[in-house]
Amino acid sequence: MSERSGIPGEGLVKGLAVTLKTMTRRSTTQQYPDVAPELPPRSRGVIALLEENCTVCMLCARECPDWCIYIDSHKEEVAVPGAARPRQRNVLDRFDIDFSLCMYCGICIEVCPFDALYWSPEFEYAEYDIKDLLHDKDHLGEWMATVPPPPAHDPNGEPAKEESVAARKAAAPAARPAVRPSPAAPADGGEGTPR
Ligand code: SF4
Ligand code: SF4
Repeated sequence: MSERSGIPGEGLVKGLAVTLKTMTRRSTTQQYPDVAPELPPRSRGVIALLEENCTVCMLCARECPDWCIYIDSHKEEVAVPGAARPRQRNVLDRFDIDFSLCMYCGICIEVCPFDALYWSPEFEYAEYDIKDLLHDKDHLGEWMATVPPPPAHDPNGEPAKEESVAARKAAAPAARPAVRPSPAAPADGGEGTPR
């Protein structure tokens, strides 16, 4: 038979003390959906597409671990005044993200070299039909209106590398035109060397 320690009723008193302490604390329950939650501005809610920045480089689709980005495009010729030949540019036909597969890792946004993808904190896009979680480029473009502005620069932070280089160049005295060194005479006194 195990020996019990402590005063009889001690556990009950401890339990009541915890209850009383908790009763006096402010509740942290969020009354969603009656009250919208205050999310940090950089919350990962949904991905927004800035279509005009997309060059159809396909990096995001290739790097997506879930293969849930679908891109189609075609090439168009653009006549450039003064150029010998017309240039070609990619035109986006389809840019879909399947949010039923997406795991919100953010890799697509990180790898996009042209700032065409952004996080929006919007998260209320649940659907009754899973097929409706495939957002096309128009739908992804509509989310751009909900993307928060970038955070302000840190006044105590280091200036961007481009800014400091530009400032250094502006402060430097005007550079003299580079003098081309004359071609060195052949050491063996070869052709062209006066004898
Ligand atoms: S957040 Fe991740 S899983 Fe979702 S589309 Fe981008 S790369 Fe793919
Ligand atoms: S990585 Fe950016 S620019 Fe390239 S296809 Fe994706 S969204 Fe477009």
